Amino acid sequence: MKQYQLESALLPQGWARECTVTVADDGIITHVESGTSTPGAERVPGIAIPGMPNAHSHAFQRAMVGNTEYRLSARDSFWTWRQAMYQLANRIEPEELQILATQLFVEMLKAGYTSVAEFHYLHRQKNGAPYPGTNGLWEAIDNAAEIAGIGLTFLPTLYQTSDFGGKPLKREQARFAMDTDVFLRAIEQRLSDRRPNSRTRTGAAFHSLRAVPLDHLREAVLQLRGLDAALPVHIHVAEQLREVKACTQETGRRPIELLLDSGLLTPHWCLVHATHATADELKGIAAAAAIVCVSISTEANLGDGFFDTTRFLKAGGCLCVGSDSQATVSPAEELRWMEYQQRLRRRGARYSPRTQSRTWAPVSGAMPRNTARRPSASPRAPSPSAAGPTGWCWMPRILPWWARRRRPRWTICCLRAQARPSAMSWPRAGGSFRMGGTQPNRTCAGASPP
Ligand SMILES: [Zn+2]
Repeated sequence: MKQYQLESALLPQGWARECTVTVADDGIITHVESGTSTPGAERVPGIAIPGMPNAHSHAFQRAMVGNTEYRLSARDSFWTWRQAMYQLANRIEPEELQILATQLFVEMLKAGYTSVAEFHYLHRQKNGAPYPGTNGLWEAIDNAAEIAGIGLTFLPTLYQTSDFGGKPLKREQARFAMDTDVFLRAIEQRLSDRRPNSRTRTGAAFHSLRAVPLDHLREAVLQLRGLDAALPVHIHVAEQLREVKACTQETGRRPIELLLDSGLLTPHWCLVHATHATADELKGIAAAAAIVCVSISTEANLGDGFFDTTRFLKAGGCLCVGSDSQATVSPAEELRWMEYQQRLRRRGARYSPRTQSRTWAPVSGAMPRNTARRPSASPRAPSPSAAGPTGWCWMPRILPWWARRRRPRWTICCLRAQARPSAMSWPRAGGSFRMGGTQPNRTCAGASPP
């Protein structure tokens, strides 16, 4: 057992001073008590807020950061960015991925994320053949999370077609290919191999409706429910207008409409980039109690469009955030952008409605990713022991302070019951990866100590 004495902490009921947090030997917070002073507890000065789950990440894209920030032609768009991403995806070997991911996960911890949902669609060797035996690319992510000390929800991602209408994968997408049977067997294996108290969990993801035909998705979801009815399921839904249009042309319905009509959505689903959702779709997602993951830094970086946070929250929706393409790895910045985006849209000085007291990223972000040890049967009412819920209404008080700091002074990773003050050394990634080809060279060296 380990105890921490927090000088000031944000609890479900609001700010509290002198809180004692008790962490069991298995790394789970078992008790939080305010207004106490516990002799022998390790003191954490300043203010403490719940650790932020990063609900959407593609670790390998860390190697692209800084390399796509200039314009090569007037036609540059999300789709040309995707071509650059394919070039990178087709060069990475497992050892390089482990280096990149380790550095990235350390960066996440230093920024205040304490766990990450890795949406992983890089499955095959460079020649398109499956890995014999263990999948080195999957193992690289597991190893990186272990070395960095971050909680991981690994999301093997089904990717089967290049567009709506079952179009075959393109040559540059060959490493993403996976059969439904292989996908299901691999997830089943990971679930049965999970060690007690491991920081690593497994969920499932479907890249998008353009990459997985709806009938394949339905079949896989029903079988996944047989493995674990509470398995987290993630999907990219409506990031680009072009994909919404293509879906409508092919099926007569928009992607989110298709998902809603399928009746498959549950509170264990996380819809990533519901950027171009209609008002009715937002209401439908909220009614299904599915979560929306917003990555405003990536959505802004790629010029995707505005997600209507205001409307979604008014409908009772739950939000979480993710670093996605890693253009920014900072929960403070994601939340600040979310707030400022609404101010810009509404031309008002403050957003943050007080009515949304249980709709903040630390709460909802934790739900679709963690199947084990969920603190409450009701996804909308986690218990205080989960270090949440907090409240959207507190954000303006936190953000000016948080966003000005370069990084949190401490990051407490509950599952290992460890606290890392800034003076402590962090693991190094242990190598480097250099981008080449048509992109300017940029080195991702080992993680530097804070
Ligand atoms: Zn993504």
